[in-house]
Amino acid sequence: MGPLFWLVLSYSLNEKASSKMAHYELRCRECGRNWGNQPRSICDECFSPLEVAYDYDAVRASFTREQISQRPPNMWRYAELLPLPAGFEPRLPVGFTPLIQAPHLAERLGAGRQNLYIKNDAVCLPTLSFKDRVVAVALSQAGEFGFDTVSCSSTGNLANAVAAQAAREGLKAWIFIPADLEPAKILGTQVFGANVVRIAGSYDQVNRLCSQIADEQHWGFVNVNLRPYYAEGSKTVGFEIAEQLGWRLPDNIVVPMAGGSLITKIKKAFDELIKLGLVEAKQVKFFGAQATGCSPISTAVKTGSAEIEPQKPSTIARSLAIGNPADGHYAIKTIKQSGGWSEDVSDPEVIESIRLLAETEGIFTETAGGVTVGSAGKLYRQDRILSEETTVLCITGNGLKTTDALAGVYDTEAPIAPKLAEFERYLQRTLDVAEVEPSTVEV
Ligand SMILES: *Cc1c(COP(=O)(O)O)cnc(C)c1O
Repeated sequence: MGPLFWLVLSYSLNEKASSKMAHYELRCRECGRNWGNQPRSICDECFSPLEVAYDYDAVRASFTREQISQRPPNMWRYAELLPLPAGFEPRLPVGFTPLIQAPHLAERLGAGRQNLYIKNDAVCLPTLSFKDRVVAVALSQAGEFGFDTVSCSSTGNLANAVAAQAAREGLKAWIFIPADLEPAKILGTQVFGANVVRIAGSYDQVNRLCSQIADEQHWGFVNVNLRPYYAEGSKTVGFEIAEQLGWRLPDNIVVPMAGGSLITKIKKAFDELIKLGLVEAKQVKFFGAQATGCSPISTAVKTGSAEIEPQKPSTIARSLAIGNPADGHYAIKTIKQSGGWSEDVSDPEVIESIRLLAETEGIFTETAGGVTVGSAGKLYRQDRILSEETTVLCITGNGLKTTDALAGVYDTEAPIAPKLAEFERYLQRTLDVAEVEPSTVEV
């Protein structure tokens, strides 16, 4: 990051706020009490979650389309609306993933060829999921709060992101996961030298344990005591989509939901861009996506309930398998108030949808992406999303981490000899078979 950029940014931020006082602080989402900046996620007064609130007037002068467009293409270009400590120097170019049109997928889902977009966080750096964004913001505060150890409870991707970025920052990492996660996600955590603790239990049990450990150890749990800061990182998905659409908001967005944080923070990002005048005001419809085997948020939306009824997860979409989502209540609210809806898909539909996205657009997503694409298909068929509307599907993770989900889907053919005649026979056989059964996926 250019030193000039940071100089200008800190100068413009310090103009309004005193240099000691940050232009953001924690605020209770329900009672509105301010808590300053500290590692805490719950209001002691009313036991509601805290979130980061900003002094928007302090950032108005520097947070403009023109200034942002001159900054490096990564999520730090939106620094004014992230809770970063004064003097923070980013050490990784996280984010600014591609937003691409998806004309072939559009045809298959019933969307107009020009109207469907994919936000591709399957290629987010450094660990190939959108969790790199939230961790980058959470770890920026670790030093500020005096943590030399960072930690998390994780369904897999968060574990990868915390372990990798802790290594980069020279922090120790303790990672807590359900024992039966996908092997690639476990290995992809261990490789960074993190302490990986496998727990014989569900994610929700792992998370409860982490809350107890956080009370005993002076550790920065990115999704427990640092959760309000962590969650702000998700806003950068929304900022990027708006900027990549030419500073426009889409009509619809489809977002996979685990704890329900991402969908609410994309909403916050759009609201902030409207408030600061970077985009025209618009009512974007928010659509949630879950696996039917773990669909507490989507079930609540469908039954018209404002509260979550916890579920016991049973799905191959492990990264979304949170039975008691921390931000479930707010996710429901975001979806309902926007005029959107929530859908869910079975495990076989997840697999078909992973294949569909790969075969139509060349993007290999993990199970969560299958959930998003499959749910979007349903929403088009229900006419809740119309073909002429601009719609963005959030693809949040990479398929190379969940290849287990596709085990047995493809035959391993017997090898052939390295001879041209052998290949010609093989080709003829393949063409004969293709005439009988076309290989494209039905959704
Ligand atoms: C964590 C995760 C989500 C959902 O995030 P929440 O903010 O907890 O709803 C979506 N996709 C992938 C791949 C994830 O790892």
